[in-house]
Amino acid sequence: MKDLEQPTANAGKFQNRHVTADGSNRASVALSKPETLWFNTGTLCNIECANCYILSSPTNDALVYFTADEVTSYLDQIEARGWPIREIGFTGGEPFMNPQMIDMARACLSRGYEVLILTNAMRPMMRKSMRAGLLELRDDYRDKLTLRISVDHYRPELHDEERSAGSFEKTLEGMRWLRDNGFRMAVAGRTVWGDSDAESRAGYAAFYERNGFDIDAGDPGQTVLFPEMDETAEVPEITTACWGILNKSPTDVMCASSRMVVKRKGAPSPTVLACTLLPYSPEFELGETLEEAERDVHLNHPHCAKFCVLGGASCSA
Ligand code: SF4
Ligand code: SF4
Repeated sequence: MKDLEQPTANAGKFQNRHVTADGSNRASVALSKPETLWFNTGTLCNIECANCYILSSPTNDALVYFTADEVTSYLDQIEARGWPIREIGFTGGEPFMNPQMIDMARACLSRGYEVLILTNAMRPMMRKSMRAGLLELRDDYRDKLTLRISVDHYRPELHDEERSAGSFEKTLEGMRWLRDNGFRMAVAGRTVWGDSDAESRAGYAAFYERNGFDIDAGDPGQTVLFPEMDETAEVPEITTACWGILNKSPTDVMCASSRMVVKRKGAPSPTVLACTLLPYSPEFELGETLEEAERDVHLNHPHCAKFCVLGGASCSA
């Protein structure tokens, strides 16, 4: 998998967990305020996008389906550890491919957590059983549930460039169903086409307006624009001195406030990862339990520098 290989531009860097290539102390991040726990529902997806960071497809089951019982066991651990979790996020793959998606969401909502499901709003979500389950969740929990829809670009031809012809229209159909049934929606877009932040937000605002979607294009929490992950770009290593130089705090970085649980194919039990961005890097596996996952994370990957410390990436902002 691509995360296991270091791009040549970074040769010699990101080798030692504690020390950078020039001998400085590598920065680390403590789990200072765990607010979001992510579950990867499985890597299977109904489509195969050009730039899917987790390499999902209709055949990739490297991460297998999570179950409602497994989710419940982690919810028990949150309570036992006293983590101040506010939100449970579900990502994939396409979460609605997982037959237990509704049960998993209900398990979290029934304990008072907010739930965020990332989806392409296409056929898996639109199956009769999923729509019926979603309507029940809406009736029981209303605004505690948000669906964040991937709309790579507000122009259909650019969205379809990533996701294959006709995808935009199918996603739009799903969004209209969510709109008509009063679901809370957010959108995740990409900045791969080089639009400025202002241009992107203006484009999404017009798209929402045309379709009557109650989504704020100016709110980065409701319209999340993701930078592209260029695996070959040269990036600096983050040392303990960088926080002061960049005027940034370790508490701002995603792994200070979240973890992601995945289940690998063939593994006897799920495992907890430092974050959502590095699903295939063994060094960022922290253990099977939330207790083990409380340890500090050493920023020993180009993504740590490029997206989190220098770029400010967040999956749930
Ligand atoms: S819809 Fe999402 S999970 Fe599926 S292939 Fe595309 S980016 Fe990956
Ligand atoms: S990629 Fe970001 S969130 Fe993940 S371990 Fe590195 S700094 Fe933390």
